Amino acid sequence: MASEEKKHIIILGAGVTGLQTALSLLTSPSTSHYSISIIAAQVPGDLAAEYTSPWAGGHWRSHATTAPEDKETREWDLRTYQYWTSLLQGKEGKVCGIPGCESRGEDDLGEMVFARMKATGLGFKESRNYWGKESLETIPDGSGLWWSSAVSSFQILNLLSESQLTCKPNPSSYSPHVSGGIPTTALFGVKYQSICINVPQYLTYLFSLVHSLGASVLQAHLDTSSGLQGVVEDVKRVFVTSPENSEDEGEKIAAVVNCMGLTAAKFLPEVEAEKSHPIRGQTILVKGEAAMARTFTDFGGGDELVYVIPRPGSKSTVLGGCKQAENYSSEIDEELSARILARIKEHHLADELLGDDGEFKILSTQVGFRPGRKGGSRVEIDTGGKIRGVSVIHSYGHAGAGYQNSVGSAEKIVRLVAEL
Ligand SMILES: Cc1cc2nc3c(=O)[nH]c(=O)nc-3n(C[C@H](O)[C@H](O)[C@H](O)COP(=O)(O)OP(=O)(O)OC[C@H]3O[C@@H](n4cnc5c(N)ncnc54)[C@H](O)[C@@H]3O)c2cc1C
Repeated sequence: MASEEKKHIIILGAGVTGLQTALSLLTSPSTSHYSISIIAAQVPGDLAAEYTSPWAGGHWRSHATTAPEDKETREWDLRTYQYWTSLLQGKEGKVCGIPGCESRGEDDLGEMVFARMKATGLGFKESRNYWGKESLETIPDGSGLWWSSAVSSFQILNLLSESQLTCKPNPSSYSPHVSGGIPTTALFGVKYQSICINVPQYLTYLFSLVHSLGASVLQAHLDTSSGLQGVVEDVKRVFVTSPENSEDEGEKIAAVVNCMGLTAAKFLPEVEAEKSHPIRGQTILVKGEAAMARTFTDFGGGDELVYVIPRPGSKSTVLGGCKQAENYSSEIDEELSARILARIKEHHLADELLGDDGEFKILSTQVGFRPGRKGGSRVEIDTGGKIRGVSVIHSYGHAGAGYQNSVGSAEKIVRLVAEL
């Protein structure tokens, strides 16, 4: 179809949800007859409280349960794990401008993974997760974790055994320095091959890629004061005032995809808006790249937890954290920072990052707000019908899982757009 006849899909937001949605729409044959544009107040490189993506830890650790209502989330998380694995192995996905990224022989997988890690900010890392109390996840055979059979190298840790491993394929590979400590109050632990994300780099990678594939990006703050209809009208106004577009282009907008995270609550009807809420996270970025990701949850710290997430290729690691629902404070809580550091030291979860003085070298401390939503994320066509001829599709409320479900949820958007 000639480009002047193409209809437009406008994605609202340039966080991981908006960027991955753009990428999936641009690369899917079923939506290749649309031109793709992004309108966002903030883009990669910007920092703002209403822009969650740059503040994430982040790594793949599914929070979906084995319950029937989490079926779709499980599928999204699984798809993202599989896609990222293939992307790093050079079997799937596009990467631009990095030598060694585009082809590989059978014997240079390690080089390919390294080159793609450098290009994308994603990296394979072992993750060790510990729980301090029994929950639906801590069933001794691992069946409480739906993903135990989906991820690579999953093992239940024998916390009492000297080597920590239930199976010891190669006991000589055990190194106390690299494996770190086991929280003394942990009653269950697992390890598996996770994928960690250097989030600023990954966002920049996605942003450059969608741009190179033809998406246009308009940086603008949309007016959210007149409800969803007002947002759609403002989208049309912003779109046609871009030098690239004439007045008639506004009439060729087929759909807008709302990937605006927490901002969705500002323009959706009250019944929807009141489901959305921030889940505050506070993290400390420290010097050095931890050998693996480590988490410790349910230890009696209320809405606080412990995590260590290396940012691949960055020589830095994120230490956390907390999940404080309905807390809007962007002030750093210094006492919380002290507790985070003390817990990680107490349980020896990142000893390899401690300096000779026994302290972490702190690079920055930050607060981010996960876009929480009661009932889980919303990825669907708006039930209110078209607005001025434009379909509205939502993808927001991804809470603490926006990275790890990004590919799967974006592919649902592709299916919804293809059916318009
Ligand atoms: C501390 C912390 C740790 C986390 N760890 C993980 C993890 O390990 N794994 C994981 O999967 N997830 C993690 N998350 C969650 C993840 O970061 C979010 O789910 C994800 O970033 C949400 O992305 P989004 O694109 O939906 O929203 P956002 O990133 O918030 O993007 C919203 C977009 O909408 C735009 N926008 C907002 N208002 C307007 C307006 N009025 N006009 C125009 N544009 C507007 C913004 O500019 C932005 O571009 C973590 C989050 C935090 C805070």
